[in-house]
Amino acid sequence: QKFVYSFGGGKADGKAEMKTLLGGKGANLAEMSVLGIPVPPGFTITTEVCAKYYEEGKKLPEAVKPQVQAAIAEMEKLVGAKLGDPTNPLLVSVRSGAALSMPGMMNTILNLGLSDAVVEGMAKKTGNPRFAYDGYRRLIDMFGSTAMGVDHEHFEHELEALKQAKGVKNDTDLSADDLKVLVEKYKAVYKAHTGTDFPQDPIEQLWASIMAVFNSWMGKKAVEYRRIERISGLKGTAVNVQAMVFGNMGSNSGTGVAFTRDPNTGADEFYGDYLINAQGEDVVAGIRTPEPIAQLDQEMPKVYEQLLGIRKTLESHYKEMQDIEFTVQDGTLYMLQTRSGKRTGSAAVRIAVEMVAEGLIDQKTALQRVNPESLNHLLLPQLDPKAKDKPVAQGIAASPGAASGKVVLSAEAAVAHAEAHPDVKILLVRKETSPEDVAGMHLAAGILTSTGGKASHAAVVARGWGKPCVVGCEVVRIDEKTGTVRIGEHTVKAGDYLTINGTTGDVMIGQVATVAPSISGHFATLMEWADKIRTLKVRTNADTPIDSAKAREFGAEGIGLCRTEHMFFGDQRITAMRKMIVADDVEGRKAALAELEPFQKADFVGIFEAMDGLPVTIRLLDPPLHEFLPHDDKGQAEVAKQLGVTSQKVKDRVEQLHEFNPMLGFRGCRLPIVYPEIGDMQVRAIIEAAIEVKKQGKSVLPEIMIPLVGTIEELVFVKTRAVAVAEEVMKDKGTKVDYLIGTMIEVPRAALTADKIAEEAEFFSFGTNDLTQMTFGFSRDDIKGFMPTYLREKILPVDPFQTLDANGVGQLIEIGVAKGRKARKEKTGEHLKVGICGEHGGDPESVAFCHVVGMDYVSCSPYRVPIARLAAAQAVL
Ligand code: ADP
Ligand code: MG
Ligand code: MG
Repeated sequence: QKFVYSFGGGKADGKAEMKTLLGGKGANLAEMSVLGIPVPPGFTITTEVCAKYYEEGKKLPEAVKPQVQAAIAEMEKLVGAKLGDPTNPLLVSVRSGAALSMPGMMNTILNLGLSDAVVEGMAKKTGNPRFAYDGYRRLIDMFGSTAMGVDHEHFEHELEALKQAKGVKNDTDLSADDLKVLVEKYKAVYKAHTGTDFPQDPIEQLWASIMAVFNSWMGKKAVEYRRIERISGLKGTAVNVQAMVFGNMGSNSGTGVAFTRDPNTGADEFYGDYLINAQGEDVVAGIRTPEPIAQLDQEMPKVYEQLLGIRKTLESHYKEMQDIEFTVQDGTLYMLQTRSGKRTGSAAVRIAVEMVAEGLIDQKTALQRVNPESLNHLLLPQLDPKAKDKPVAQGIAASPGAASGKVVLSAEAAVAHAEAHPDVKILLVRKETSPEDVAGMHLAAGILTSTGGKASHAAVVARGWGKPCVVGCEVVRIDEKTGTVRIGEHTVKAGDYLTINGTTGDVMIGQVATVAPSISGHFATLMEWADKIRTLKVRTNADTPIDSAKAREFGAEGIGLCRTEHMFFGDQRITAMRKMIVADDVEGRKAALAELEPFQKADFVGIFEAMDGLPVTIRLLDPPLHEFLPHDDKGQAEVAKQLGVTSQKVKDRVEQLHEFNPMLGFRGCRLPIVYPEIGDMQVRAIIEAAIEVKKQGKSVLPEIMIPLVGTIEELVFVKTRAVAVAEEVMKDKGTKVDYLIGTMIEVPRAALTADKIAEEAEFFSFGTNDLTQMTFGFSRDDIKGFMPTYLREKILPVDPFQTLDANGVGQLIEIGVAKGRKARKEKTGEHLKVGICGEHGGDPESVAFCHVVGMDYVSCSPYRVPIARLAAAQAVL
């Protein structure tokens, strides 16, 4: 079996399609090699070896060794140097690389092959002892920390101590002799912490490093990253061993990272950073603030031109925006990596649309290029242009959108804060971030760093998640000890509000007003393409005219769920509602309901007006009545005073209504069955509003939805009453409106008896929140205690309240759709309209499921409407 694939010298054993086996990095190094792009030669050990390594209890399969030896020989031949040969040494890097990119999640070891003897030879051969010893001390550090688990801080400590002793500020100010001293110090640190000497045999170094890469696959950072990104099912990481090229050989050398297009805006502009006289991670780590890539045109015009050529070659070959890494050694350019670049939602949209215009891809490909979830980014609030708040600092705009939040100064603090106050937005302020920080970064509304460039860890990660981010804001000074941040002459404390604008790089003190976004330009174009292709309609969940209008602007084709309970809050309304609940008899309830009716009607008028020409599904009152009464003595006393009854009476009623399990309690259709006058009032308000709006010359399509039905008899009971009221109102007003009466399918029994129910229901809407609760027997509000463990232990692949459980809950839906449609057709000859109105209606994976089972529409919150439109189009492709 072939475990090792070589690349270099204009050819390769592998190719880009072999990502699963060679990892993204290895596959693309092979591809670039074949394309004739200059790549230092090397070889890739496959992901299968990683899988075997773990299967065999962290042991490398024997068969790998001879293959690696052969590949080393080949690499030595191509480079014309030998591992461990002091007169003509070959140095290599050992790099990880899984099938999906996990930036900075695993460890890279550079300069491997240096030893006491080789470093001397290297110094002689290059005539640059400073360079040789700098490489050696870096190797001891990287190998020690990555392969042997020595804390990097111990090495850093020695470096700082030496710099202080020498009175210098930068690493680059240390002389060759200083670095020689440092090497000895590092070796001592290594020995102190590992109990062994730093290995002098390059092959020993190599094997230890290869194992270290395999070990990093299960390291904390990598596991955490896969958890957050929901990556599973990969075999492991590949290992790439590659001849070193040196960006730190002097002022004619350097290293950089770039994107073939702007990953923030998507503009067709070369975008990136580089550093002269630097090695690898220096650019990404945010230690020195790098130069913008365009500057390279001045410093190394030939290299820059070559790089522009490669940019073109890569884009026309991959037909996708690329994220590249390169190094210049003494004026010669080498490519070290290419992969499709992470980008913001807005950039994804622009790039996809522009690539269609450029003839690189077609519309269908463009639609598949944009992750629906990433559209969130375009729907993020933007800073109100009218806001008067003046920026107090400006950094580099690294990931667009505005974010305000309470300042936290560490990832741990972010986690602690989010646990204690889940509803309070936080802003993570750091000097720089590293892969250890991802959990905290994930919880922050935005990220601000004082160092680092556009390709720094913070920038890349924030962009991937669509989180606003500003980096390299140099006037920001963080003092973790006192918990304060100085921004120029201003000081803010941890816990104070700060606002960043990731679109411009501005930083403002306090909370700045934001405005809602709109769909235009490239976004609108992509949405048009999506609409052309999709067959599933997209409605919205809205219960105010403002939300309805917003959703319509975002492309909603109706309201799939208007929750009426929200309309019973507000001063006068809640009082009337409480009066109704506390009333002793029907007459009392009717009187209170009469007070509520004008409010309900006015609300419906507003919504019908906003949705002119589109269907509006209104759900009758759903929650249990006790939710409208206060549960504390003080609150109850106040209500009693307002209603003119005794406190005891309110208290008694609350006790009477108390439920052990409200989720399964006195709610949904059970309310209008016991208190028909409640349903009557609502239906009257709906029909009267519809008539009124129809008289304005608008088109009104009300759909009355009865919740929580489990038996046909329940539906018949409520429906009969509703029809009677509706007919009476229409007769009274002398005007007819078309309306439908349907039901939610959210009790498993309703799904199972959908054929019966469909004989009476004119539409179905799957209430997947309740259906999921009842199918799993999980109360949605009480999953906190076990869901994290369930997900960690993979007892559930995802939270079923976020992504529809296709296997279980999905079966009930399939049964419901099939039985319902068939029975309705047989009885009435009509097509039964079926939709979904749970939280799942805006989740792309669930939308795909709804498409497959043949629903007519999904309904989701206004801000998810564009996401659902795109997801519905992708479901067709
Ligand atoms: P990551 O997966 O975290 O991006 P890489 O394997 O790309 O890690 O390595 C990080 C950096 O190390 C690279 O960006 C590059 O600058 C440097 N590097 C890796 N291999 C070599 C090499 N053979 N020669 C020079 N620099 C290298
Ligand atoms: Mg890399
Ligand atoms: Mg429900």
